[in-house]
Amino acid sequence: MAGDVSFLDGVNRMFDRAAAVLDLEPGLTEQIKLGKGVYQVRFPVRVNGGIRVFTGWRAVHSEHRLPTKGGIRFAPFVDQDEVEALAALMTFKCAVANVPFGGAKGGLRVDPREHGDEEMDRITRRFARELIAKGFISPALNVPAPDMGTGAQEMAWIADTYREQFPNDINAIACVTGKPPTQGGVSGRVEATGRGVQFALREFFRHSTDVSEAGLDGDLAGKRIVVQGLGNVGFHAARGMSEEDGARIVAIIERDGALIDDKGLPVDAVAEHLARHGGLEGFPGARFVADGRSVLEADCDILIPAALERQITQENAGRICAPLIAEAANGPVTWDADRILKQRGRVMIPDVFLNAGGVIVSYFEWIKNISHIRFGRIDRRFDETRGEAMLSALEMNGDRSVPDALRSRIVRGADELDLIRSGLDDTMRLAYQAIREIRQRYDEVDDLRTAAYVLAIEKIAGTYREMGL
Ligand code: GLU
Repeated sequence: MAGDVSFLDGVNRMFDRAAAVLDLEPGLTEQIKLGKGVYQVRFPVRVNGGIRVFTGWRAVHSEHRLPTKGGIRFAPFVDQDEVEALAALMTFKCAVANVPFGGAKGGLRVDPREHGDEEMDRITRRFARELIAKGFISPALNVPAPDMGTGAQEMAWIADTYREQFPNDINAIACVTGKPPTQGGVSGRVEATGRGVQFALREFFRHSTDVSEAGLDGDLAGKRIVVQGLGNVGFHAARGMSEEDGARIVAIIERDGALIDDKGLPVDAVAEHLARHGGLEGFPGARFVADGRSVLEADCDILIPAALERQITQENAGRICAPLIAEAANGPVTWDADRILKQRGRVMIPDVFLNAGGVIVSYFEWIKNISHIRFGRIDRRFDETRGEAMLSALEMNGDRSVPDALRSRIVRGADELDLIRSGLDDTMRLAYQAIREIRQRYDEVDDLRTAAYVLAIEKIAGTYREMGL
């Protein structure tokens, strides 16, 4: 990573490259680019028999729409630069995906593996209380979600902490998304980011000119994919594409190394092995390589970094073989690496579009919470009855009955998961099409990342103008 600009500087340079395409007033460009502010807090918690002081952040990048939105990351290495960069990415991601939120992000420097459930409960609630006290968690203003090191459990603790303090707030549960479905969460939130990656790649492969730009052809079937990170995002993306689209996961990279199998790895079984043994080593029937990082350079069709930021840097960018890099993580390609990869004709599907599935479904969850009703609750039975009536009408006039498989598809009313998945699919498709349109509109925009940033900047500028800035 030596020599690469910082995460936040990189995001800012990506922003500047895109802003240069647009003819905006300099003050407006600055307002969109610069973060609103960042709150740093230190607080003590009694853990492991002693008192430990924790450091956390919540960065608010843009409030052009409210609430601001973005996950909270628990990791031993989090710092302010990272949280601010991730908050900026949230602003652009929401704009690209047409999610009417501003951008924010939180981070707490903690290694969840060092603490049991009871301690994590205490640490999370204390952090939440610190943020709530300063207005950094609120259904109307600032809504966290899971990110690396956090999940539904932490979100349930945060929601409970907020509700304790504001029992009269009828929308209290909308103060955070990614909750368990039994605590106001929505079906399909856990898989959302990974599914979003799958839906986005399907859409990419529907546009043959884009596909041939990456030197590929056809669709996802038979494509050789290398995935870095079998966490929530990587797992659901890899499983979906191998089971439903016929793609082959030829390598999986994790903390302790990588598994390689040209015939394709069984994603479920690998994930089970990882959960049981804490690493990939020893998985039967595949080659294990201890230097996982070198496998980023493996020969494949699609490389999906789905773990940490800053994985492809100026040090290894020159050796990346994959013609298509799908950024399922936030910021996996540094600014310096981006330029090297571009020069080498590699196509990158940028994070601000590709991993938006999480926040898209968070938006659906927030809508569900403030409308106080599950999706599909009112219309499902009605749709089924109408489907039955349509089928009866068809069969009355024809001489053949509708085959059973088709019958059940027509008759079935959509449940919450069906609606969430189709809403996610539609949003990802439309976002990709909007990015393509930008490329067509501006000759100087010759990559998807710049196009996505231009799209975001245009939309945010439009919002500020409408508000009368
Ligand atoms: N942490 C996720 C992200 O980076 C989801 C954010 C959200 O749902 O608010 O996009």
